[in-house]
Formats: sequence, structure tokens, C-alpha cells
Amino acid sequence: MRCRDLPIQTQREFPNNARTQGFGWLVRAGCLTRENQLLPLGEQVLNWLRARSSDTSFLLRLSLPLLSNPDETYFPLSTGSAEIVNCPACNFTARRDIAPFKKTPFSQEAPLPLEKVLTPECPTIEALANFLNLPKEKTAKALMFTRVADGRFVFVVVRGDMTLSEAKLRQVVGEVRLATSEEVAKSGAAAGYASPVGLTDALIVVDDLVPQSPNLVAGANEAGYHLLHTNCGRDYTPEVAADLVLADAGTACPQCGNPLSLQRAEILAARSEFHFKEILLALAETHHDDKGLTLPPSAAPFQVYLMQVPGKELDTRAKAEEIYAALQAAGITVLFDDRDERAGVKFNDADLIGCPVRVTVGERGLKEGKVEVKPRRSGENQLVLLENIMEEIIKQGAQHGK
Ligand SMILES: [Zn+2]
Repeated sequence: MRCRDLPIQTQREFPNNARTQGFGWLVRAGCLTRENQLLPLGEQVLNWLRARSSDTSFLLRLSLPLLSNPDETYFPLSTGSAEIVNCPACNFTARRDIAPFKKTPFSQEAPLPLEKVLTPECPTIEALANFLNLPKEKTAKALMFTRVADGRFVFVVVRGDMTLSEAKLRQVVGEVRLATSEEVAKSGAAAGYASPVGLTDALIVVDDLVPQSPNLVAGANEAGYHLLHTNCGRDYTPEVAADLVLADAGTACPQCGNPLSLQRAEILAARSEFHFKEILLALAETHHDDKGLTLPPSAAPFQVYLMQVPGKELDTRAKAEEIYAALQAAGITVLFDDRDERAGVKFNDADLIGCPVRVTVGERGLKEGKVEVKPRRSGENQLVLLENIMEEIIKQGAQHGK
């Protein structure tokens, strides 16, 4: 393809809104706008990737560090749209909001009788645990919702040291929204001092750790008061006990028990759907240097960046046209920089765009029947006889991997 058919829009400056290096280089190379819109060159890369994506090992051949489970494939990235957990020991990987994990029940103790205590100004778990001088895991946290489908009041209990996952809750009871203060009052609960003890007409849902945690402190449904020693099953009966809480950094892997790590990631594939723009970003994050992109041949829409430097005696342009035709005839993908730009501009753009091999047709070389061949990554320029170009390009491509 010629630059007249694929206008090059490289940028001199790193965009000041670049959240990651990869994004910055994609903008500078003219693949994306600063507003993250695709430009023609970016479209070319995506089309190239799309055309190769019928192969199931497609992602694996792009030299990217990946984490995956049977449903989704992730690329770890601090600005990624998903939060995932991963086990470095067995490689278990899942979205954080639905990730199962191994829970450690409390040491068992005999249920003690309920006791109502005055707990002034303790509307939060922190304040309550401090006031009673108890660890947070000895408290019950209450969350109140209304089910969208039928308007049913949903009272959720998780242990005080845990965080509810609304995604897990939705899997159990369906779509919910936060309950209004009227709905809370109608159920008999008191905001800030709520518990399922003594409620009327509530769908009580508890995390599966709650029935295994005896003698939890919970609200007394009266402002300023809590109940000591509430026991699920004795003082209230849940309709559902299920896993409802978020995995955290350091919680135990559900497969092998080792600590999970928590990180952000970009989703590159969900089921069999590839997210090509995210794949492009992942490629740029992992394949760049301080001059621009260094895409591997498996991801580069053009294997060769062909350019000519105007000569004083020889017609380098005509020779470049010949080479362009010959490379294309040999099935090599070429971006032919046929612009009337200074050599420095072309060299710079070649580095930014990062085709695996740059071929430069210049007067000095041509006098010896040679052109310059420079692999983008190693950067070692060499003069190659015209008749050996093809062989050299194929060799350079092979050195970069499949
Ligand atoms: Zn594991």
C-alpha cells in the first residue's frame, strides 16, 4: 500500500492525556487520535488481526502476556476496564466481582443468648467494632435492596470484614436497586442499626460464611442499639445462603489455596469474541521502544516499510517502484512511503509506525547495486545487494518469530 492511499498522520508530541505508554505510541504512530478514535493505519492493523482471528491460537501468537479462563482472556494493565483475581501458583483467573474463593470459617463456639446493648453513634461497622472492642469479623453487615422484578425488599447480611459483591447478589436474586428510606422503614429495619432479626416480609439473603459464624453483633433495628450474639438460623432464617462477597488480595485461591493477587486488566476476548481495539492497545503496551512501535510480524499489517531518498544522479524513485512491485509479487506486505518528504521525516515515521523491516533506496547504495535493510528491533542497518533483498527480508521476519 502506498502512503497516498494510506495517509500517515504521525504526531511529534506524546499526547498529554496518555494514560499508558502504549496509548501514547499508538497516537504518535497515527493509529489512534488523542480521543481514542481509530485512524486509517489503526484500521489496517485491526483488519490484519481480524483476518487472522479464525485460528484459535491467534492470541497466543501475538507475544502478549495473557491471563485467561475458559470464558475470557485478559491482558494485565493498570488502566484496564476489568478487575481480576489471579493465582500465581495455579494460574486460576477470574473477574473479581464473580470470583469464588476459599473462605475460612470462624473457630466454632457455642451460641450465646441475645443481648441488647446501647451503642451510641455507631452507624458504621468500624465505629461499632471500635466501640465494642471487637474484630470486624465478629460483626454482621446489613445491606438493603429492592428487587426490580417484583419490588420485594431484600435484606442482605455479610460478615463485617467482607464486602458485598452486587454481581454475586444479582446472580442469586436477580436485578436489585438500593432500597429507599421508606422501604427500609416499612420492613421494620432501622438504617445504620439494621439486622434481619424481627423483620416482616423481607427476603433474607446471607453470605454462606454467616451461618458458620456464631455470635455476631448485629443491629437491633432501633437507633443507637445493637444485639450481641445473633445467630443465623436461631434468631432469623435466611431464604438463601450463597457466596455473596468479593475476593480480595491475599484471599485463598479456590483451586489450590494459595493467596490470590488482585489486578486490573483489559479484556481481549470474551467467549469467542475478540476485542480487537483492546488487542491493539495490548500490542502497543508490550511492543514499543523509545522511538515508536515495534510490532511483531504476526501483528504488523505491513512487514516492510519501503522508502526512497531522492538522489542527485540516479532515479531512486523508479528503483523503489520496481522494488515495491517485486516485493508485492513475492507476497510481502509493504507500506511504500512515496511522499515527497525529507529523509529525516520518513525515517522518523518508519520508526514510529514500526514495521518489522525498513528498506531504504538511496543513491549511495544504488551505485553499488545495494539498498539499506534495517530490522526495526535490532536497529542494525545493513547494505544488501538488490538480488538478495527478498531473502534478507524473509530472514529478518523469521528472526522476529512466527
Ligand atoms: Zn491457585
